[in-house]
Amino acid sequence: MKRITIAKGDGIGPEISDAVLKVIKASGVQLEFDEVKVGKELYESGYESGIEPETWKTLEKNAVFLKGPITTPQGGGYKSLNVTMRKALGLFANVRPVKAYAPYVHSFFPKMDLVIIRENEEDLYAGIEHQQTSEVIQCLKLISKQGSEAIIRYAFEYARMYNRKKVSCMSKDNIMKMTDGAFHKIFIEVAKEYPEITADHYIIDIGSALLADQPEPFEVVVTLNLYGDIISDIAAQVAGSVGLGGSANIGENFAMFEAIHGSAPDIAGKGIANPSGMLNAACMMLVHIGEGVAAEKIKNALICTLEDGIHTGDIYREGESLKKVGTMEFADAVIERLGRLPQKLKAVSFGGNLQPIKVSRPKIKRASKSLHGVDIFLDWVDKDGESRNPDVLGKILDSLPAQNLKLKMVSNRGQKVYPGGNPSTYCTDHWRCRYLNVQDAENATYADVIKLMEIITTNGLNIIKTENLYEIDGQRAYSLGQGE
Ligand code: NAD
Repeated sequence: MKRITIAKGDGIGPEISDAVLKVIKASGVQLEFDEVKVGKELYESGYESGIEPETWKTLEKNAVFLKGPITTPQGGGYKSLNVTMRKALGLFANVRPVKAYAPYVHSFFPKMDLVIIRENEEDLYAGIEHQQTSEVIQCLKLISKQGSEAIIRYAFEYARMYNRKKVSCMSKDNIMKMTDGAFHKIFIEVAKEYPEITADHYIIDIGSALLADQPEPFEVVVTLNLYGDIISDIAAQVAGSVGLGGSANIGENFAMFEAIHGSAPDIAGKGIANPSGMLNAACMMLVHIGEGVAAEKIKNALICTLEDGIHTGDIYREGESLKKVGTMEFADAVIERLGRLPQKLKAVSFGGNLQPIKVSRPKIKRASKSLHGVDIFLDWVDKDGESRNPDVLGKILDSLPAQNLKLKMVSNRGQKVYPGGNPSTYCTDHWRCRYLNVQDAENATYADVIKLMEIITTNGLNIIKTENLYEIDGQRAYSLGQGE
């Protein structure tokens, strides 16, 4: 018998988990559960990630985790358990189906039926942040080729498995030409392997606007972590069903399923929360473990319940719904309908046809790399501690003893300010000084970089970080400054 790890969470978590477990049991599917505790109670007992070290062993042994919502305490160095789990367990794909159940659940877009597939481990969520000067703080956006390819391939495999005809990529590659540009480029390459599926791309700003205003043509959307986080909430809200959404976090060896909503402390303990989000997540879990027949049975019973107007308070509408029910009463109504098909809304059909989608991260060929120079970042203001004239800094740098790497330009927040900057450009105390080996471009050395850093430092300037400038596989592997 398959064993699943379950954590009921906190807030409304225990109420909705009990309702979901009752429905799963009534469906007849044979499962065993190992219950673990995560969340508020653990945070309060001093576990700053909200999980006890031994719990990881249970999670890894069962490889499938159904999780109730948990409260993340504000501030105080607490780490989000969700982010910790995604990274620790390699859950690279976040899958969020969003569907309107209009007219039974109000939505302006009754035909909306899309799936957002969000990269789950990288991007600005790497959480690498530094304050470098009095004025400037940075957050590193890290994108890997294998991470991008895995999520994009997952999206196409998902479309193929669920008979979706279109995959839309969203990125901001008009601005972030290298990071988002790589994601878009990999999307174009992977799409060629799925000729039966239409592939298109939207800049994330217009893509989000369209999702909010004309979501019905979208089928599968694949995007980077931050954009995916934002658009999946927009889409759920627009479908009118934040309380209905379930999500899956999928890795190569592990999967975690949960509702998209949080622990709803405002209604916790009242027995009125909607268990549908977690029930939808449980259906995704059943498909994942090869119990598609049970998933189909539960999902169709859930749709029947919504269609029959049996609604929890969050979706109940006077004059439209038939009956307002609490959490357990809703679960009982679903159980009563097990084996029935919806009459007006479309029934789902998973049957035995669906398999877990298996995608591995590809091996990336080692690239040939040559050093061209270095960006040296300085914390600098003029002697008076106030003015920050780029020409003054540029002249100090130009007056340093000559060596192999030569100053090409200085930029401030990406805009070139020396030589020949625009006097209107506002400058902070954070300067990027670009040095290139102009004589022998291909053959700068790390010794040159160290020598340069030594000269800069001994002349009283404060280096906050360096970035080497490479040519990789014959291509410039760094962006130019604006105006460079
Ligand atoms: P929330 O999703 O918990 O609640 C937002 C609103 O939606 C509230 O009015 C709530 O009553 C309502 N709501 C949510 N789920 C509902 C349901 N099933 N039935 C009926 N109404 C429902 O978001 P929040 O208030 O911003 O966050 C509360 C806590 O949950 C925070 O600590 C947050 O960090 C955490 N959180 C956890 C998860 C997770 O565990 N995956 C996800 C999001 C937020």
